[in-house]
Amino acid sequence: MAHIIVLGAGLGGTIMAYEVRDAVGKGHKVSVVSKGKDYSFVPSNPWVAVGWRTKEAITVDLTEVMKRRDIDLYPQGARRLHPQEKVLELGDGTKLDYDYIVIATGPDLAFDEIEGFGPEKHTQSICMADHAVMTKAAFDRLVANPGPVVIGAVQGASCFGPAYEFAFILDKALRDAKVRDKVPMTFVTSEPYIGHLGLDGVGDTKGLLESELRQHHIKWITNAKLDKAEADKLTVSEMNEDGTPKQTHEVPTTFTMMLPAFRGVEAVIGIEGLTNPRGFIVVDKHQRNPQFREVFAVGVCVAIPPVGKTAVPVGVPKTGFMIESMVTATARNIARLVEGKEPDAEGSWNAVCLADFGDSGIAFVAQPQIPPRNVNWASSGKWVHAAKIGFEKYFIRKIRTGVSEPFYEKLALQVLGIDKLKAIKVTPAEPQ
Ligand SMILES: Cc1cc2nc3c(=O)[nH]c(=O)nc-3n(C[C@H](O)[C@H](O)[C@H](O)COP(=O)(O)OP(=O)(O)OC[C@H]3O[C@@H](n4cnc5c(N)ncnc54)[C@H](O)[C@@H]3O)c2cc1C
Repeated sequence: MAHIIVLGAGLGGTIMAYEVRDAVGKGHKVSVVSKGKDYSFVPSNPWVAVGWRTKEAITVDLTEVMKRRDIDLYPQGARRLHPQEKVLELGDGTKLDYDYIVIATGPDLAFDEIEGFGPEKHTQSICMADHAVMTKAAFDRLVANPGPVVIGAVQGASCFGPAYEFAFILDKALRDAKVRDKVPMTFVTSEPYIGHLGLDGVGDTKGLLESELRQHHIKWITNAKLDKAEADKLTVSEMNEDGTPKQTHEVPTTFTMMLPAFRGVEAVIGIEGLTNPRGFIVVDKHQRNPQFREVFAVGVCVAIPPVGKTAVPVGVPKTGFMIESMVTATARNIARLVEGKEPDAEGSWNAVCLADFGDSGIAFVAQPQIPPRNVNWASSGKWVHAAKIGFEKYFIRKIRTGVSEPFYEKLALQVLGIDKLKAIKVTPAEPQ
């Protein structure tokens, strides 16, 4: 009997547990190590931050569903991975042995790298549900006492879609509260141009997003590095394309929400051979660490090099569909190893993203994520808002029922021509 541990029960980890449970069958043990018993749907955090959702509405207690799926849940979290010994040390000192482990710990949020930055200092966050709840309180204060707002993403950030999304959602929420006319808004981003998104643009995201920002009266600063955040202003260095300083801005603000840079979590950071210098897990094309062959990784914690050189560092986003493709490949690869075969599945890592603007939105598909691409498509419209609500309802249902990919999802993805796995060559001797 093999023991497979999934470390982290976020977007990647929960469906990883369901898919690997299906793939390896009942003869093997599957465990999930999480921080607490709840799953929370991160893509809805921008809605929580303006009061369009409650935290409870996007949270699922995993206890029952994990039991039903014959998966052991350890909610005490992990303190440290010891890959040489194939042991995971938990928060309460318990030690779990494993045959295979999938790391799905998402990001550690690097607020401490910038003076005055983060929800414990002078800026808001939507990266975690609890942060979004705090941001809602700040939003209420803003409505009561309107003033300038800054939204964006700092140097080293990789998650730009939610920054744009929150700028437009906030614009809509302020219009609904009839105070938008008293709130000058600036979008401050490390991207070299609006709509770069860490992907060197997708379709005409530059044109689409510039136009939307103009139409919503949001000014912007690109190639921007946040030097310091204070309660009433931000100090921002705008860089030339060659990385030399161009101009320093003192941007007045009463409400700031900027996406931080990400790094690996404490339980894994700094393990030689496992992580890169930022603590992201190094994997091969089968999602497997080249040194510790029992270790796999999926989601935001995976090391992916940037798409090219930029004046201010920007990372590559890891979106939901890309993460699902990593999960499907990993489940198949672990099942094959358990059967004594070699891994053969590769996630397609296609970037599919829906960015909601509250009443419309933009969508893009980048296939593959690094240009030149076979599919390089972006579009905007009211349908994106509806599609994002559909994505939320559907994903939360998937987590509640414990069924990772029902038939109609497969069908829809195939109709769209989007594959989770790169074509696998199957030798004639193997079952098809
Ligand atoms: C605000 C925001 C909005 C986003 N919106 C979208 C969107 O609309 N569409 C889209 O495709 N993508 C979106 N993304 C990107 C991405 O899909 C999400 O970040 C997604 O949640 C990442 O999944 P993950 O499993 O890698 O990490 P997470 O979902 O963050 O899960 C990681 C889990 O690991 C746990 N963990 C960490 N350390 C430990 C430990 N030591 N022990 C045990 N557990 C641990 C954490 O508590 C967490 O539950 C968004 C990202 C953000 C930040």
